[in-house]
Amino acid sequence: MEDKKYICPICGYDKLDEPPYGENGEPSFEICPCCGFEYGYDDFDQHYTFESYRANWLKKGAKWVDKDLKPNDWDLEKQLTNIEKLQFKENYSKMFSIVREEVNKLDPMGLAPGETTPIDEYDEEVEMILTNIESAKNYQDLSKNIKDIFNEMFDENFEEKLFYDCAKNIKIRTTKM
Ligand SMILES: [Zn+2]
Repeated sequence: MEDKKYICPICGYDKLDEPPYGENGEPSFEICPCCGFEYGYDDFDQHYTFESYRANWLKKGAKWVDKDLKPNDWDLEKQLTNIEKLQFKENYSKMFSIVREEVNKLDPMGLAPGETTPIDEYDEEVEMILTNIESAKNYQDLSKNIKDIFNEMFDENFEEKLFYDCAKNIKIRTTKM
């Protein structure tokens, strides 16, 4: 396993020591060395949203708080694309839990329609989707790839509507940035 580093949801810096927020939303109180956002303070106490802090930071010239950590070949645009990746990941997990719920509604044993495999055993597909999210260059690529994977997992009628609902959700959230 490679060293796990975490992404700042404000500036896209991808070498945070801890996840900025835990599973139940509890903040790490780590200060991002790039944009200076303190998770749990700038949002909860200072009432910044990620967007408003980011806009402010960009307006002030996107300066690094810890200048020693700034790479010589630092590329702001490239770093900002990490935020999109992060959102894909979050949306994907939401999307998958929606799918899981829907499947369970159809079959309380947790079987996909026409399948004999419990939904929890789709580990390989989950991995494939995660890999796709990691390597996706844009929304269209990602949605096409995920759609293909979903197509293999579920029968078409079930999958079509659900997929588009989920994809629509992802698109709305990623273009809102
Ligand atoms: Zn940051």
